Amino acid sequence: MKSHAKVVVIGGGVVGASVLYHLTKAGWKDVLLIERAELTSGSTWHAAGGMHTVNGDPNVAKLQQYTIELYKEIEKISGQSCGVHITGGIMLASTQERLDWLKMAKARGRYLGMDLDIISVDEAAKLFPLMDKKHFKGAMYDPIEGHVDPYGVTHAYAKSAQIGGAEIVRRTRVTDLKQRPDGSWDVITEGGNVHAEHVVNAAGLWAREVGRMVGIELPILAMEHQYLITGDMPELVGKPEQLHAIDFEGEIYIRQERGGMLMGTYERAGVPWSEVTTPWDFGQDLLANDLDRIAPSLEVGFAHFPALEAAGIKKVVNGPFTFAPDGNPLIGPVKGLRNFWVACGVMAGFSQGGGVGLALSRWMVDGDPGADIWGMDVARYGDWTTLAYTNAKVRENYAHRFSIRFPNEELTAARPLRTSPIYDKLTTEHAVFGDYCGLEHPLWFAPSAAEAVDHVSFRRSNAHAHIAGECAAVRDAVGLLEISNYGKFEIKGPGTAEWLSMIMANRVPSVGRIALTPMLNERGKLIGDFTMCRVAADHVFLIGTYAAESYYLRWFERHAAPGVTVRPCAMEYVGLSVAGPHARDLLQSLVRDDLSTTAFPFMSFRRMEVGMVPAYVGRVSFTGDLGYEMWVTTDYQRALYDSLSKAGRDFGLRLFGGRALNAMRIEKSFGTWAREYRPIYGPHEAGLGRFVDFKKDRFIGRSAALEERDGGGAMRLLAFEVAASDADALGDEPIWHDGKVVGWVTSGAFGHRVGKSLALGYVPAAVATADAGFEIEIIGERHRATRLTAAAFDPTGALMRA
Ligand SMILES: Cc1cc2nc3c(=O)[nH]c(=O)nc-3n(C[C@H](O)[C@H](O)[C@H](O)COP(=O)(O)OP(=O)(O)OC[C@H]3O[C@@H](n4cnc5c(N)ncnc54)[C@H](O)[C@@H]3O)c2cc1C
Repeated sequence: MKSHAKVVVIGGGVVGASVLYHLTKAGWKDVLLIERAELTSGSTWHAAGGMHTVNGDPNVAKLQQYTIELYKEIEKISGQSCGVHITGGIMLASTQERLDWLKMAKARGRYLGMDLDIISVDEAAKLFPLMDKKHFKGAMYDPIEGHVDPYGVTHAYAKSAQIGGAEIVRRTRVTDLKQRPDGSWDVITEGGNVHAEHVVNAAGLWAREVGRMVGIELPILAMEHQYLITGDMPELVGKPEQLHAIDFEGEIYIRQERGGMLMGTYERAGVPWSEVTTPWDFGQDLLANDLDRIAPSLEVGFAHFPALEAAGIKKVVNGPFTFAPDGNPLIGPVKGLRNFWVACGVMAGFSQGGGVGLALSRWMVDGDPGADIWGMDVARYGDWTTLAYTNAKVRENYAHRFSIRFPNEELTAARPLRTSPIYDKLTTEHAVFGDYCGLEHPLWFAPSAAEAVDHVSFRRSNAHAHIAGECAAVRDAVGLLEISNYGKFEIKGPGTAEWLSMIMANRVPSVGRIALTPMLNERGKLIGDFTMCRVAADHVFLIGTYAAESYYLRWFERHAAPGVTVRPCAMEYVGLSVAGPHARDLLQSLVRDDLSTTAFPFMSFRRMEVGMVPAYVGRVSFTGDLGYEMWVTTDYQRALYDSLSKAGRDFGLRLFGGRALNAMRIEKSFGTWAREYRPIYGPHEAGLGRFVDFKKDRFIGRSAALEERDGGGAMRLLAFEVAASDADALGDEPIWHDGKVVGWVTSGAFGHRVGKSLALGYVPAAVATADAGFEIEIIGERHRATRLTAAAFDPTGALMRA
């Protein structure tokens, strides 16, 4: 084994082999993969090898498409067959809701260029005669599903990488990792040490253990997974290979395996494997079968596909594979650890392995993953993902793998974990809570405890009328919102303004003022949107998206400067906001400072005493009304809440939650991170051009942003009024123009203050000025969409400045 390499990839499963291949393809040849046993010795060898393009996150779906298309390439380079069988696949719906879900998946596939089709039960049965029609209502057909040979795929990646210059060392375990002061790594192995510039943790079933070598606890857990293979079936003789099928009701997937069928299930009572430590002596082993555990699914499967029961069970496979809490991979550089990368938690290696390798290699070589991989970024998790949290969430995710996820559905595992000081007070007010980064935050308020439950639906739910009431209170009087779930940072030190001016695209505000700003990468794409509040010359209170805290910190670390400290303080400061025409009168009744617009205008920020509570007060509101945000240290939140609630009685104060806030910010065409603002859009495209200060000579992304502004950018964020009936757009629906899909919705909601169904979404710049011809597809039906030329609510912004 060589003693030095630019990159050491730990783990020779399908993911590590893909990363290795993609690194050589991107031009890094001095790369070494170290495998403890033989290639495929983790989850990979016993996988069912199924692959499909459909994923809840369109950006992950794109990488799945890429993976499937890649197999031809690596077969050609390596001469190794991947055993690709493209059979096509059907997803079978037994209920109307599932059929609605499939229609939405098909619609989403449209703008990804996927050729999905909703078909009748009769058509499905023609394609897949093993099904018993009476159990189904319809299906979706995808021509590019199939399965591969896991051994063949892994070896094809590995050989292609070796042809590209990579080296692979087998039967050598990495036992430790030690970082040198220059950020490079000593990789300690059973066969000697290697000095590497970069290390990639692609250790699959042992990724947690490799993480622990560098002091991190990765949120992944292996679950046992069983599939069975039937005896040979006369029904298959002389027929073309059967399609892949997913039967959601049985929570099963089926495909042909030689003369029989393979049937696997994601059972409700899933069992984790090696919950704390994965044994190093586990190799190409299988776990003991437990057919009783999957009996309920098998029963449904045998009823829905009777020929399978008649064929009997020839073989059962039970093997472990890893999941992150949300079931998506964990990839990217790890905050606080230079040159340490992860590519793990990949639960669908044969659909996702190629995309993971591509994104990670680009990130390592070019400094950017080259695609929007937020849904897979390791930085989406933080300190709350303890071992027990991960355990609870992974079990829940496994059990729900084939369940319908409704847009207003809040999963219950691992809750409540984090609560703000006023949690009990909000519970008394019948708050319905959501979980955000493990933190409970109010979504809406019900009139009674009995009504404080969301009836899950793709259409307007039982919460609709209550949210309408909350929005009306904000419009006509004043609303009180908890805003503790924002991300917060204290930036301090003599270099604060200079550093922020470089990192952020907008001008740093003067002391006592607030500025909104995008953060751009070198390619001029949006990697954050913030509110900068200037407390003092050398002190800025920075507010952003909490879920992206690690993502931001990674960037801040990369661009760290002497004389500046960046301190995340999300849960040290919790917040409350008041918004609406009576907001000023309410707050004025509690503070000595003059809150008139002359004395404390829009976008002001100041330390004040609110009642007895010392607080930062900013004159801003995400609802677009006259409003104030108040930030206090955690110990004061209850007192602040009590003072506002008591004083609010005279002003018609009503609590409102995150759902109402979402509807109101859409009425104002205000975008938000991970929906309208993502690293695939530039500020001009996203309508944030006015927050980019080109008068500054230098800031990251300046030249690319200037190019975008002058060239106009490819896409445009638009606001629409939708002629919807009982279901509003939510996000990811296709936008049609003149009968063609041209774009996608990023957010949507019913705007209660204006009485209109609204949506925000991107379309190509060339059609963005069209006056008519837009439609938005909601649950399979196209609705006329009218482009709005100004925000639906308070288009001039007079109210928030009043
Ligand atoms: C029963 C079953 C059915 C499945 N069906 C499908 C399917 O149909 N479709 C699909 O896409 N996916 C399926 N999967 C999931 C799929 O197997 C995984 O997504 C994939 O194998 C993950 O690959 P990996 O490379 O991340 O991890 P692994 O395969 O676990 O590979 C990790 C490798 O790292 C090595 N390693 C670990 N630690 C060290 C160390 N310290 N030093 C050196 N080497 C080390 C291990 O020996 C191992 O070879 C299935 C899994 C199971 C168990």
